[in-house]
Parts: sequence; C-alpha cells; structure tokens
Amino acid sequence: MARVFGKSSAEAVQREKGRLAALEQLDLFNGPRDSGFDRIVRLIQQIFDVEIGLVSFIDGHRQWYQACSGLSADEVPLEDTFCRYVAADEQPMIVQDAMKDPRFVAHPAVTGPEHIRFYAGVPLKTKAGITIGTVCAIDRAPRSFGRRDLCVLEELAGVAMDRIELMQTASTDSLTEALTRRAFKREAEQLIAAALRHRHDLACILLDVDRFKLVNDTHGHAAGDEVLKAVAATCRANLRASDLFGRLGGEEFAILLPHIGAEDAMAAAEKLRAEVCARPICGDFGTLAVTASFGVSALSIVGRDVDTLLAQADAAMYRAKGSGRNRCVSWSSMQAANGMGARRRVLKAGSVIFNDRRSTVDCTVKSLGVDGAGITVTNTAGIPSEFRLAIKAEGFETACSVISGDRQNLEVAFR
Ligand code: GH3
Ligand code: MG
Ligand code: MG
Repeated sequence: MARVFGKSSAEAVQREKGRLAALEQLDLFNGPRDSGFDRIVRLIQQIFDVEIGLVSFIDGHRQWYQACSGLSADEVPLEDTFCRYVAADEQPMIVQDAMKDPRFVAHPAVTGPEHIRFYAGVPLKTKAGITIGTVCAIDRAPRSFGRRDLCVLEELAGVAMDRIELMQTASTDSLTEALTRRAFKREAEQLIAAALRHRHDLACILLDVDRFKLVNDTHGHAAGDEVLKAVAATCRANLRASDLFGRLGGEEFAILLPHIGAEDAMAAAEKLRAEVCARPICGDFGTLAVTASFGVSALSIVGRDVDTLLAQADAAMYRAKGSGRNRCVSWSSMQAANGMGARRRVLKAGSVIFNDRRSTVDCTVKSLGVDGAGITVTNTAGIPSEFRLAIKAEGFETACSVISGDRQNLEVAFR
C-alpha cells in the first residue's frame, strides 16, 4: 500500500484504485518495451545533460521502468522511490540537491553506490487526469532546474502519453510482429464465439521465456530483444495459419488454436517447447540457449471466454515454472490434481500479512478465483507458505496456502 503524504487515506486509496484501473485498461502492466520510450529517455539525457532518464509506471507496490537509461534495475519497490511523492501528490517534484533535503538525505539511493543527488519528476497523466507513472530526469550531481526546464519535462511526459495512446490502436507488436494483447483478445473472442456456436474444440497455450531477466542483465536489452524475436519466429514457424499468435507482455506469448482439443494442444505445446529449447540464438552477444514454460487450457464448461482461458493457461504456466521450468502443464491436469477453480485476470493492490500480523508485504493480485489467487511480490523470499491475503480496496481478507511460486509470483489457495 502506498504511503500517504498529507492527503487523507481514503483519498489515497481511491487514487490508487483509479491508477490501477487506468493501467489495467491501458494494458500497460508488464507490457512490452517500446523503442519510442527509449527515445524519450535519451532525449531527457541530452536536453538536460543528466545521467539518468526514466519513464515509469506505478502499480500497487512497485515502480516499473517502461524505459530507463542510466540505472540497472527494471523495477523497484514503490516505498524505496522518489517517484512515490510525485504519484501521491500528482504534482511535479524537483530536488535540486538530495543531500540538503531532509526527505532524502538518508535515502539509500543517495547515500549508497547510486549517488543520486538531483531529481526532477513529473506525473505521467492520462487524458482523464489519472497519474499512472512518472517521467524523470535524475543526476549524480546537484543542479538547478528552472521553470522552462520543468515545462520541457512536462512536454516530454505528454509525448510519452501520446505514445501510450498510439500503442492502444496498434494491432501488432513492433518488435516481434505478434498481435498485441488487445488485438489477440479481440480476435480470440471471435474465434471462441464461433467455436461455441459450432461446438468445435479450441485451446489456448501461454508461454513465458524462462529466466529472461538474466538474459537482459547479462547480455543487455538488445540481446533480450533478439531472443524475443527468435522465440516468436520459432513459434510462428510451428503454428498453422489459422492459429492466433499474440504477445501478452514482456516475454509472455499466447496462442489460440481453433479446432484443437486439450490433448492435441498439449502435444503442440510440447513441440514448441522442444523447438525453442533446441534453437540456439546467435548475435553480437554470441550464442544463447533459452527455454520457456508453457500452460495449456481448452474450451470447457468453466472456460468459455478469453479471459478465463488465459487465466487458466496462466495458472498452468506458473505451475510449470514452479515445477522446474522448460515444461508444459495443462490446466485440466492441475484441476484433476488439486481441484483448483478458474481464475479471472485482475490487477489489484493487496497485502500479504503474516507473523501474527506483525509483517506485511505489498503485492499485486493478478488473478482471482473463488478459491485462490495469483499474486506478485517484489521478492517471495521470507514469505511463509501460509499467510493472510488482504485486498483493501475490496474490503477482502482471507487465509491462504501457497500452492506454487517462484521468485516473484505465488499461486495461492484460499483456506
Ligand atoms: P521466469 O523464469 O520466472 O519467467 O523469470 P524471468 O526472468 O523470465 O521473469 P521476470 O518477470 O523476472 O523478468 C522478465 C523481464 O523481461 C523483465 C523485463 O524488464 C524484461 N522485458 C520485458 N519486456 C521486454 C522487452 O521488450 N525487451 C527486453 N529486452 N526485455 C523485456
Ligand atoms: Mg519469464
Ligand atoms: Mg513473464
């Protein structure tokens, strides 16, 4: 839960709710990187002559860098950021010298190896006036930042917002040429309606590249982009023309297979898994081998719309991650094994509460069903296998057991 700075807590909860709803509607959460934003951060560096430029989104508990130049992380817990002040007040903030600002003088980014001294951040606002993130110029030396500078930074935030709006109308992803999430869902809905009408089979495969962050961290984002292109090309080469292929987010792809039942979809996923795993990717960075984890779902009584099919495939994919990665899991086999119900995709700020309520970890609830949920946290280390999950905006709290998980994701069953 974002801390509150001078505003009433109810107002802050309301604002956070609006922000998460806007992010969900814009489908930005964990969305693909986009070279347009990279250009904006390069402009920030050049225009203001600063070391660090940033375009970020802010969800329930973390700040996620859509584009960043000069910092190594991709995301940071919200409570550690300067930008939380901009998000909380929905106003620009200029810190000319962090060493002279009592709010930041002891901040780890100031006292630690990052040596941040100067920060100028403006809210990234939708046309409806909802702050969904920030656009920042940051430097390792103190400096002044006048009215004109602020106007230019606000102008760049406007360019970033225009870019976001433009992306909403695109139907293919510029990097991989896969359908965008929005276009995939739109076309999938039509195929599902036809399959239901004519009583045809239909299945969905979701795949997520394993340990992709490591590729970026070790070889750089350009190598990561090449990996994504190669994985997408491998998938496309092994699919039929009638299959839908979309990029749902960063390194996550979805496939919709008309006229295919659950069993054949598992075989198709297994073939894709073997192909991805067997195809080394060559480039300036050398040769890389990657694997992916797959989740499979199929049309059924409890899976008759695209959101449910994706949520089921997602839960199966997380199970594949939890069981060691580079494997395929079908949702129906999970159902048979532990009777877990269907999930719908959501995006809600939540809290993981444990240690007799003495410990709380902020989380984002990404899928929700009657008997369980999928959540992400900054780091699952230290979270016990049983805890209480609260979704404040919904007035919801319940006891949970962890079914599966990895470094950032947990699949939980309600008790
Ligand atoms: P796991 O096996 O559990 O899936 O781990 P992971 O490292 O693949 O997953 P994680 O979600 O931790 O990291 C995904 C990374 O993908 C983080 C994000 O910055 C990066 N990413 C997202 N979109 C793009 C993109 O378009 N290009 C590149 N190069 N990286 C991207
Ligand atoms: Mg991954
Ligand atoms: Mg992923």
